Amino acid sequence: MSDWEDEYDEEGTAIQKPAAKSAPTEWKLPCGDSQSKNVFFGTRNGTRFGASGKDRADRRGDYICWRGGGEGRPFPPSTGRGGEGRRPFGYGKSDFSPPVTITVENASVGRVIGRGGAKIRELEESTGARIKINKGEYEGEVVIFGSSAAQQKAKEMIEDLVADGSSRFHSGPGGMADHGRGADGGLKNGSVWSAAETQAASGAPARVSIDWNTIRENKEKYEELKWKDLPPMKKKFYTEAESVSILTAEEVSEWRKENNNIFVDDLKEEGEKRPIPNPCRTFLEAFELYPEIMENIERVGFAKPTPIQSQAWPVLLSGEDLIGIAQTGTGKTLAYLLPGFIHMDGQPVPRAERSGPGMLVLTPTRELALQIETECNKYRYKGYKSICIYGGGDRRGQINLVKGGVDIVIATPGRLNDLQMNELISLCSITYLVLDEADRMLDMGFEPQIMKILLDIRPDRQTVMTSATWPTGVRRLAKSYLKNPMIIYVGTLDLAAVNTVQQTVLIVHEEEKKSYVFDFIQNMLPEDKVIIFVGKKLMADDLSSDMCLQGLAVQSLHGDREQCDREEALKDFKESRVRILVATDLASRGLDVHDITHVFNFDFPRNIEEYVHRVGRTGRAGRSGTAVSLVTRDDWRMAPELILILGRTGQEVPEELVLMAERYEKHKREKDMCNPRGGQGHGGRGWGRRDGGGRGGRDRGQNWGL
Ligand code: AMP
Repeated sequence: MSDWEDEYDEEGTAIQKPAAKSAPTEWKLPCGDSQSKNVFFGTRNGTRFGASGKDRADRRGDYICWRGGGEGRPFPPSTGRGGEGRRPFGYGKSDFSPPVTITVENASVGRVIGRGGAKIRELEESTGARIKINKGEYEGEVVIFGSSAAQQKAKEMIEDLVADGSSRFHSGPGGMADHGRGADGGLKNGSVWSAAETQAASGAPARVSIDWNTIRENKEKYEELKWKDLPPMKKKFYTEAESVSILTAEEVSEWRKENNNIFVDDLKEEGEKRPIPNPCRTFLEAFELYPEIMENIERVGFAKPTPIQSQAWPVLLSGEDLIGIAQTGTGKTLAYLLPGFIHMDGQPVPRAERSGPGMLVLTPTRELALQIETECNKYRYKGYKSICIYGGGDRRGQINLVKGGVDIVIATPGRLNDLQMNELISLCSITYLVLDEADRMLDMGFEPQIMKILLDIRPDRQTVMTSATWPTGVRRLAKSYLKNPMIIYVGTLDLAAVNTVQQTVLIVHEEEKKSYVFDFIQNMLPEDKVIIFVGKKLMADDLSSDMCLQGLAVQSLHGDREQCDREEALKDFKESRVRILVATDLASRGLDVHDITHVFNFDFPRNIEEYVHRVGRTGRAGRSGTAVSLVTRDDWRMAPELILILGRTGQEVPEELVLMAERYEKHKREKDMCNPRGGQGHGGRGWGRRDGGGRGGRDRGQNWGL
């Protein structure tokens, strides 16, 4: 199962699960151990690898890292990994001078390498030199290859970088005020970086003994210092309309029941709970005081707010933090965007005097980032400029846009963290923060980047978090980064869509799958449009090329494709130039294509939530849809939950699926009996899970549940 594509980094490559993690995919220096002191970074010189599955380590960035070799000796050029066009550093060019070596403290090596190799890449690009790092026990050697001019340039830049780094590492509290880091409290010899950060930057085990008590004691002090000169901020912009305030408790309760069974709670931990604002049932009730917002809504032509909007707007305009348990398709983007616009416009510091953007939306994938940006532009307010920052996109172009001044940043965590760490973006002016699809971001392993990003955002900001599910990890994140939030659970529109989708389940053998899918395609009508979901990137390529060979117009969407190819695939599909899209789960969430008539689950998804997401791609915007799912014996653990969904949505349940579920339950019981403590219930994921982490908060009202 390890090569199922469900988790992506921002470069679109699969994030390997911890067990599968291998050294080359880690962007820390992998040479903390004394055996492997040589680390060689080399560009791939534009070499492109095949579309999928190949050499994931290479595709994580433009750097490859090799180990081995004798002490201090450059690696032979015949490594062969770089592919065609790769030039060994320091070899084969007559104007190359002997390598120049600079010695730097181990603590500064991380500065030279930069996050994900970004700094070393930048140094190489801007100087034309090639740089190799040898780490010793206490000091590292930076070896520079290339022409003497290039070497000299690189040497100067590295020396500047290290000098700058050491002033940061050793400068004391003033350094923190300058750079805005260290809020998690590292303080050793006046350093404002935590030991953990220092260690992460150097890639070597810290050789200092850490006094955690002192660190904890200092944390608050430094937090205070860090944020002491903040400009004033305003959060409250709501005046309840009379038609809203006269609603009785019964009327409100009835409205919530009728509107996706919406549920609102106050998660304030201490003191009395606050009254929950009544919902705004019309746009005017929420935005009467904001005519430009009203104009925008009228221009777009929406009839009325969606349930989450009705309930989120009064909460957010009142300045409260909010958690929205809602999926894409519920109107959640507009639910946080419009109050965000009003918030930014209402800040006491005039826009021209702010040092950077006012709103940040963090989102898991570049597709979602682009979609949010489209929404943002649709309701353009007061000429606010937005920018999308995501891995795989044009980094330099994104940096230039940021430098040109933007109001709203929509970003995936990896790339934003990269710019943040390289001090190319300032986050201290952000007063309105959105963590969109938090569960997905955690699933994709973005928690460390989110944590680092949030260190640089003022703590008194207003924060909104959305998530399709409410598992422990998301609760933990919410508890750490939101202050006394309110929470809104929305019965999902996707689930409503699932109700309108005719779902067929076929029990088949693995080797029969292709003939089923080709049969299906042959029977498609000209106006039909299908997403074929597969589990692996390789299968997406395999199936789509089979279809191409048969003369079918098809596109494929998965994380190993270049960003521009992914965008083109999506555009072709949206604009109906192709009517067949073969996709991994990258496409199961958030893609807003209204006229998909069929979903074909070539491979059954890994969990039932993903099934609902996938099936919810059809039957949208009031249309009906059809889903066909192929289930093999390998999918048997999904059978009980699938039966539940089919039952709840009034679908026929095939007899074979029932037998499969019974076999699985029996097997599980036997396994549990053999291993009573270690048995894993199938309910551990998704619907009705026993830990209360399932969709829609069946554990409503039980607060944080941590
Ligand atoms: P979201 O859940 O934010 O991904 O929104 C899904 C789609 O619903 C987007 O295309 C929005 O433009 C659309 N939408 C947002 N609010 C409304 C509304 N009040 N009425 C109808 N459609 C809406």
